[in-house]
Amino acid sequence: MSDGAPVADDDEQRHRAELVLRMRQSGINDARVVRAMEMVPRRLFVPPHLADQAYADRALPVACGQTISQPYVVAYMTQHLQVGDRHKVLEIGTGTGYQTAILAGLARRVYSVDRYRTLVAAAEGRLASLRISNVTLLTADGYLGWPSQAPFDRILVTAAAEDVPPALCDQLADGGILIAPVGPIREQKLIRLRKTATGFERDALLPVRFVPLVPGKAVAL
Ligand code: SAH
Repeated sequence: MSDGAPVADDDEQRHRAELVLRMRQSGINDARVVRAMEMVPRRLFVPPHLADQAYADRALPVACGQTISQPYVVAYMTQHLQVGDRHKVLEIGTGTGYQTAILAGLARRVYSVDRYRTLVAAAEGRLASLRISNVTLLTADGYLGWPSQAPFDRILVTAAAEDVPPALCDQLADGGILIAPVGPIREQKLIRLRKTATGFERDALLPVRFVPLVPGKAVAL
């Protein structure tokens, strides 16, 4: 974000400071991640009638029947992704663009895909209003990744499939890390894959609840 980003009012600054304090108390101790979260006004990413809940630590409903993820889960995934400032990152499930904005504060460039044109257009507007310019968005089926931009140093999936889509494994760089929620609703877990010279190392992280990764691009929306 550039120095010319809109200046937040005092309440807004205080809400954000309280949010990151809660994140730190919950074990989010990577200073770069904390700073990146502090820079992003979540209020801009939630529907106006839910503005008073923008800094509560919970997921909220947004357009197209989707959700903006719970701040703790955003922080946790971001911390475990270990994003460096030279990294090229792929996100599947742009949604509101909140997680995208945080990744943009950490990475060299972020590519983000959503199946809803409406969500991509709204996210593009929010990111532009925050003068975030190292992000490229695409309306497409995230199951396929973004082959023309691969490989990616980091991949983050923010909707749950039965397992990690094979195209995403293929598009991960050697030494790269991918984090995705997998499994049936009510039994989802975040998993982390690390691509090594000989294959993938896989660890299970946190139990979570994400909206499903639905195959195909959404038609009218
Ligand atoms: N990271 C978002 C929350 C994402 S909710 C945020 O911070 O706001 C999950 C998103 O995944 C939804 O926007 C949904 O449209 C998208 N999604 C579901 N299936 C998809 C697919 N096959 N390809 C791309 N996006 C998909």
